[in-house]
Order: sequence, then C-alpha cells, then structure tokens
Amino acid sequence: MTATLATEQTVDPVPERTTAADAAPRRPSLSPSRAADFKSCPLLYRFRTIDRLPEKKSKAAVRGTLVHAVLEKLYDLPPAQRTVEAAQTLVAPAWAELREEPGIAELFEPAPPTEGAEPSVDEGLEAWLASAGQLVETYFRLEDPTRIQPHGREELVEVTLPDGLLLRGFVDRLDVAPTGALRVVDYKTGAVPREAFEAKALFQMKFYALVLWRTRGVVAAQLKLLYLKDGDALTYSPDEAELLRFERTLQAIWAAIERAVATGDFRANKTRLCSWCDHQALCPAFGGTPPPFPADAAAAAGWRTTLPVTPV
Ligand code: SF4
Repeated sequence: MTATLATEQTVDPVPERTTAADAAPRRPSLSPSRAADFKSCPLLYRFRTIDRLPEKKSKAAVRGTLVHAVLEKLYDLPPAQRTVEAAQTLVAPAWAELREEPGIAELFEPAPPTEGAEPSVDEGLEAWLASAGQLVETYFRLEDPTRIQPHGREELVEVTLPDGLLLRGFVDRLDVAPTGALRVVDYKTGAVPREAFEAKALFQMKFYALVLWRTRGVVAAQLKLLYLKDGDALTYSPDEAELLRFERTLQAIWAAIERAVATGDFRANKTRLCSWCDHQALCPAFGGTPPPFPADAAAAAGWRTTLPVTPV
C-alpha cells in the first residue's frame, strides 16, 4: 500500500451527504458510510439504518451535493469546453434542480424578523452559492478536466461476497486507462475533526477498491481523494493482501451488526462526533431514551432477529 497525504488539514464532510447507496437497498447491505456509522457508534447506525429516523439537512452537506452535481455535469461537455467559466455556469441550474428536493429550500427561508434587523436570506443564499462556486473553481487546481474522459460518474459499485454480505457504494468518478488500469476519484467538500481524517478516508477508499477488485478482478491502480476546500489531494494504491485483510474487517463489522440486530442491542458510543448527531434527545449518553427496537421494520427489511415480530 502507498498512501500520500498532502496535508493533515484535508477535510471530509460531517454530516456527509447522503448517497443513493445509503437509501433502502433490496436487502440489508453495507456501504462505506454506514459501516463507518457502526464503527463510530452502533446506536447511530441503528437510528439511521434500522429506525430510519429523519435528520436535518445541513447547508454544508447540501453544498457537497451541489458541487458533486456540477462536477458530474461538467463531464457532459466536450473536453475543450470544460473550463472554469463553463463549470460556474452549471452551478445555478444544478441548484435549481436541487432546491426542489424536500427540506432543501427551507434551509434558506427567512428567519423570523427581528426588530430593526434587515432580512439577510438572499445574501445568505448568494454567499452559499458563491462558496460552492469557489469549491468548483478549486477543483481546476487539482485536475485538468480537458484531459480526462471518465468511464463512469456517480457509478454504483456492488458485490456480494461468498458469505452473502452485500457491499454497495457509489463512486464519484471511475477512470479506466487504455491499459485497463482503474482510478477511482472521490470529491470532498466539508470538514471533520483532524484525528478522524486519515482512517476514515482510507476506509472509504479501501471499500471501493475491494468492491472493484471483486467485481472486475483488477486492483485499482489509484484511488484519489480531492479535497476541494483546501485544494489538497490524497492518493492511495492498494494491493491484494491489504484488500483481503480489509474484506475480513468488513465481514467482522457485518457480523457485529447482525448480532446487534438479532438482539436489538445497539450501544451508544459518545465521541466528539456526537456534536454532529441529530439524535442526542434519544441517546442514553445524553440522558435520552431510545424508542423500542423496531423489530417488525427490521424483519420487513430482511434482517434476522430473535426478537418477537408481528406476523404479516
Ligand atoms: S449522540 Fe453520540 S452516542 Fe448518541 S447516538 Fe448520536 S453519535 Fe451515538
């Protein structure tokens, strides 16, 4: 394995943007973000994946979604037209589309009027859009899109391992060289606490590398994370031995998840990441009480549980 870390101040979104891989799959499966949830806090995994409790959208996460959409559409243009200026013109239409999604336009609704204060909603939106444009501009410092022809964008990668574990994830961009060499590219727009950075980023990259290896029989030559806030990049070249070890790690995480679902026992794990958690009111670590474990919903979603389930 080789990993090149340009700087420790590279960043990653918390809360992360939700991807289609996190939506309800055909049967229980593991995505990089949900595996990371369970590793950091089993109760958070339960709330998100089993209870499917709603969470507030954040401007930071929505900005990440917007920037991803712009960079995806950038590659619809002929190579010579992939300029900074062209990319900036994609921001407004991408936003117009995004704001139609539930809970997004509300983020920019006016705050209740305060006596003597001028409403600043439009300025807030303008500044937010400008910050998205800045991230798009920074992208051009990291890559020259006129020289890249992606093989896939927002591409679903999934595989069922021999033990039945279904791994699913969406890669932002997949490049395939004429030699068949693979490069996976992931765009990052937000920030996490510094100490969580390296392990989390490498975990996600190894996940994609494993799925690609198991589906295509090729170990990706390079996995590349582009950090658009600071204009940094991290590249990683995995090898088979490491991917085999990582596969065993995912299987162990999955076994722990299955045990927790079977018994309904998901422990809270209080860390600094709790600051970003929407579920503190229901969390024992903050004096709350979780709702009863939804065994019926878990069974309906295909989980095995030893808890009483209402017959259908
Ligand atoms: S507040 Fe912290 S400990 Fe509680 S569920 Fe959220 S992440 Fe877990």
